[in-house]
Amino acid sequence: MKKHNFSAGPCILPQEVFQEASQAVINFNNTGLSILEISHRSKEFVAVMEDARQLALELLGLEGKGYKALFLQGGASMEFLMVAYNLLEKKAAYLNTGTWSSKAIKEAKLFGEVNVVASSEDKKYNYIPKGYMIPTDVDYFHCTSNNTIFGTQMKVFPTTPKPMVCDMSSDIFSRVLDFSKFDLIYAGAQKNMGPAGTTLVIVKEDLLGKVTRQIPSMLDYKVHIEKDSMFNTPAVYPVYVSYLTLKWLKAQGGIKAIEEKNEKKAALLYSEIDINPCFKGYTATEDRSIMNATFNLTDESLKEDFEAMLKEAGINGLNGHRSVGGYRASMYNALSLESVQVLVDVMSDLERKA
Ligand code: PMP
Repeated sequence: MKKHNFSAGPCILPQEVFQEASQAVINFNNTGLSILEISHRSKEFVAVMEDARQLALELLGLEGKGYKALFLQGGASMEFLMVAYNLLEKKAAYLNTGTWSSKAIKEAKLFGEVNVVASSEDKKYNYIPKGYMIPTDVDYFHCTSNNTIFGTQMKVFPTTPKPMVCDMSSDIFSRVLDFSKFDLIYAGAQKNMGPAGTTLVIVKEDLLGKVTRQIPSMLDYKVHIEKDSMFNTPAVYPVYVSYLTLKWLKAQGGIKAIEEKNEKKAALLYSEIDINPCFKGYTATEDRSIMNATFNLTDESLKEDFEAMLKEAGINGLNGHRSVGGYRASMYNALSLESVQVLVDVMSDLERKA
């Protein structure tokens, strides 16, 4: 039975990528060797790393603009501290839009003063704060473009004279943005880019080398840049699968083409949430994420029926994050419109039954 995978991450990736990636486990690029057993210094793998780094920049429109792409380890959570380690001399500004922003703030406080310019904690992070000011005496401004748990997404980014750092873990490569507005972007791979195990960091080189503290080599972006993202053994397989996914994205027509599909999927689901009296959206309408849609039942007594119907339809991964409950439909790049239609059909069947 076909599964419709709405999991929040690790999550759905293109079937073509699974095919090619599984083949490489047996025989990588006709080397007669598995990708899992070759040296990361082999010319075949070095080419994967180089092409993946280049393709990431190309897809974001950042080639030739002073940026470097790195595939690091430690998840996006490691970037919470690496960002501060490398950039925070005295003070940084952070926008608090959810659990992940809060975790980034907690780490940054280990390195200097943190000015939380605005927070949506007062309403359980169901909206994106607006109209805040970014002070001029900070080293950088940090924000989270898409709040995976709560289902909100920044639609506009502030104009700031200070470097802008963004955690794009759950919406990178899903929508067109002027990525050159950002000085550092990071994203754990396990949503739109690949499996868990590697984190993409896009950093403008002229941002680095300004803090006075000593930085341990593994946590120093400059060291990783100098070593072409091979300072130590990289996460070979996650990087390879991310590379295949980026190639798949390019073949789909790149970010612009995928954004159109993502918008259609999100519009289909949100319109059902809005017209179906059995459901209520969790977030402020204008801040709705096109990646993660969060919603609740209006009558909890329907829970058992709804969940049985989801199972029957082959729908996987719809439970909300354990901290919020309810439901969350993650509609990452590889999820088809047909899968969203299956979910919407189940939702309207529930209304008929209720
Ligand atoms: N930031 C965001 C927006 C996330 O959704 C997540 C979790 N997937 C993280 C950071 C933490 O990522 P990781 O588990 O890779 O450390």
